[in-house]
Amino acid sequence: MANTKSESLDSKLSTDQLITSVRVLNCGRAEQHKEHRYGSKLPQLWWVFFGRTWVPLPLQCFVIEHRNGLVLFDTGIDPAISSDKAYIKQAIGRFLLSRIFRFHLTDRDRIDHVLANAGIAASDVRIAVISHLHFDHVGGIAHIPQADLLVSERETAILSEPHPEREWILREHIEIPDAKWRQIALQSSDDPLFDGFDGIHDVAGDGSMILLPTPGHTAGSISMLVRQNGWDPILLVGDLTYEAAMLEQDRVPGTGDRKTLLASFAKVRELKKLLPELVIIASHDFGAEAAISGATRTKSTFI
Ligand SMILES: [Zn+2]
Repeated sequence: MANTKSESLDSKLSTDQLITSVRVLNCGRAEQHKEHRYGSKLPQLWWVFFGRTWVPLPLQCFVIEHRNGLVLFDTGIDPAISSDKAYIKQAIGRFLLSRIFRFHLTDRDRIDHVLANAGIAASDVRIAVISHLHFDHVGGIAHIPQADLLVSERETAILSEPHPEREWILREHIEIPDAKWRQIALQSSDDPLFDGFDGIHDVAGDGSMILLPTPGHTAGSISMLVRQNGWDPILLVGDLTYEAAMLEQDRVPGTGDRKTLLASFAKVRELKKLLPELVIIASHDFGAEAAISGATRTKSTFI
């Protein structure tokens, strides 16, 4: 039997227009090794140095127009990473980065410019959900100083571990003076939909944007379930996978903790069993834009 809490969420979802749009923002282009994107039996260091096949890596984030204000899911990359030699402090980091990624970035790829290009003022963003702390997801935080930056407690803990930069978590670009970081302590839920997950966080308190722990790419990575009556539910999974199809096929990319990734994949597939229309959107998936426009096309009530 449904409990009171989920009944009230369901009734809110069924009557109110809580979210009016979900859009993909193009935050620049890069390339990565084929083995990085699709996984490989070869050791990581082998493909970093000897891999010869590069594949495109679209850098994307998402903007959700909620009736309480604008919510970003991730903030893109700072194009200074390819123009400013001091962006990464450690020489070894700069050396490795150039062997792991090829960036094709311009100033237009900075989040405030990306938002302006979409007709949105960066100063209007109220909340940015940060899926994880990698540099290509937190690169825009300096340009939305008014926004609350939601990050999981577990992900924040990486900053206190030795050498977070070895996991591409660059403390000097995260712990910046104006950033309004809000650590999210996930709460247990009595909604059976989320039974498989170790807690949830309801961003707006109305069930329309639910944060779920999906570790593996990093220890504190989170996904966000976006629900609006009349649309297919959307799960923004950040970098849990590079392409939705890989998650469905249990195909692990060449980075992250394999065992933890597989456990998170299984939880997401379990959620999809309960929500068969669920559309899974990975941040670096080429198909993100088409999948989101399909999911948010209002379904005819005659079908
Ligand atoms: Zn990424």
